[in-house]
Amino acid sequence: MSNRSPQPDDRSHRGPFDPEAYPAPRHGAPNPGAAGTTPGSFAAHPEIGGPRTYSSPDTPGMPEPSDKTAWDFNPAPRPAETAVTQLEKARLGVVTPEMARVAKREGHLTPEQVRDEVAAGRMIVPANRVHLGYRLDPMAIGRASHTKVNANLGASPVSSGTEAEVEKLEWAVRWGADTVMDLSTGGDLDACRDAIIQASTVPVGTVPIYSMIVGRQIEDLTDELILETLEHQARQGVDYFTIHAGVLREHLPLVKDRVIGIVSRGGSILAKWMLHHGRQNPFYTLFDEVCDIMREYDVSFSLGDGLRPGGLSDATDAAQLAELEVLGELTERAWAKGVQVMVEGPGHVPFDQVEYNMKVQRRICHGAPFYVLGPLVTDVFPGYDHITSSIGATAAAYHGAAMLCYVTPKEHLGLPKRDDVKQGCVAYRIAAHSADVALGIPGSREWDDELTKARAALHWEKHFELSFDPDTARALHDEDLDVDTDFCAMCGHDWCAVRISKTIQEFASGKDEGYAWEKPKVSEALTPEQRTILEQRGVLSPEEVHRLASKTLQAMGGEEGKAACHSDVVADDRVAEELQRREVG
Ligand code: SF4
Repeated sequence: MSNRSPQPDDRSHRGPFDPEAYPAPRHGAPNPGAAGTTPGSFAAHPEIGGPRTYSSPDTPGMPEPSDKTAWDFNPAPRPAETAVTQLEKARLGVVTPEMARVAKREGHLTPEQVRDEVAAGRMIVPANRVHLGYRLDPMAIGRASHTKVNANLGASPVSSGTEAEVEKLEWAVRWGADTVMDLSTGGDLDACRDAIIQASTVPVGTVPIYSMIVGRQIEDLTDELILETLEHQARQGVDYFTIHAGVLREHLPLVKDRVIGIVSRGGSILAKWMLHHGRQNPFYTLFDEVCDIMREYDVSFSLGDGLRPGGLSDATDAAQLAELEVLGELTERAWAKGVQVMVEGPGHVPFDQVEYNMKVQRRICHGAPFYVLGPLVTDVFPGYDHITSSIGATAAAYHGAAMLCYVTPKEHLGLPKRDDVKQGCVAYRIAAHSADVALGIPGSREWDDELTKARAALHWEKHFELSFDPDTARALHDEDLDVDTDFCAMCGHDWCAVRISKTIQEFASGKDEGYAWEKPKVSEALTPEQRTILEQRGVLSPEEVHRLASKTLQAMGGEEGKAACHSDVVADDRVAEELQRREVG
């Protein structure tokens, strides 16, 4: 026994944890409705109606938000009857049906808040009035709303076609895409775009320069062709255009020492055009005319980042920032013309530079929504770039991006197929949701907490019901153990910490009444989707997959009409252990 008297830093004499000892950096985003013991979101206080709406606290040295909004670039208001765009109507104080729909879908915003964010330029409702006549369900992109995900579709000259792309559209929406971009560069571009717009319930974006140069030399691009193509696509119902008007002749010398030059298709095409003709970017010189066409149909700008970095080596360089400055100027000019604007961003950015990239855009573009591609935070995992980029995307959304453009496993390697689209969408839904939780956006964390309650109660059916991809979760569970009981194959009965916690009377763990279950039971036979998932994994023999897909109670040793489970089909612990050994290994 020690005779030593307790010292102030002697941990053996402490009582229960004193939260004041390590004050958590809470700033006020409350994660409303959150269950459990976490202190809540560490993000900035949500100031809907301010420039820091749902954002991370600024690391010292980060650019301050701009003190301007779209209101500062507002010419004399148009007469109400001539207002066309959501921005123009918002400026007049009108809550459009589309804004009301956005508020309903978001849940945490009132229609008036949506209107005010649109009027300030911090939110867009990309809804071409032609597309509204088809199946479009209006949504919003802006930091006050939930983080959105875009999926790129489109045939290339060597792969796919219209039918396959429409199928990919439906698949992308099923897996959570909030908007899609038709980036076709091959096949019948016009028919493909038409089919996608008519079938799509989500906004459709395009990069119109692609169709301008199909069948032509880049050098043959003319002002007339540019304006005609924009008019045509606006009339078709495209909701937003990527316009690379920010890459200027003066920027090209800044690219020459880059490791990987220009990686944006639009940026490289326009650079070649400018060098060939010795003229300024035609999208820049025609910008006012472009705005007029877009305003007429309420097509939103996605101001393209033609000089985005194509590798970590070129991130946040002078070329990228010089173009961003011009995008800020173009944002102001588009707002003055009554056109809605979002701005595109990088690309490939080391993790430590992501916050700066988001906050410098917030300043230069006065809070216009930022739409970023990833960014990839490392370059050395081709085949896994949906993962490398979703890590950057999570950080980007937390620090201010409003929409994340998905990246699939095929990035840098080929045209995504159906499953690549799913993998990309899932990775980006994870990024978007993780950021929304961290930012304390109402309606986000509740989902996690519900699933945690089901998990704590070992209520497998609810667990899977609440998961983003129930078929995959169920199939992976049943691959090892097709009994819903009080453990899974990961640790087995004896080592299941969740089961043990649940049995401790003093703990609340697993005792939520809504998730109580009476008896373990053999899970349902696999659905065709679940069967396919297991077949593709190739871990089980075809016979075993077949058994899971067509199993009966007898297969588990149970009686007809009676639930089968480890405590039901077996007489005692010894037999339960046997079952565990047989099923779990
Ligand atoms: S067995 Fe392990 S992984 Fe499975 S529920 Fe229990 S603690 Fe979780």
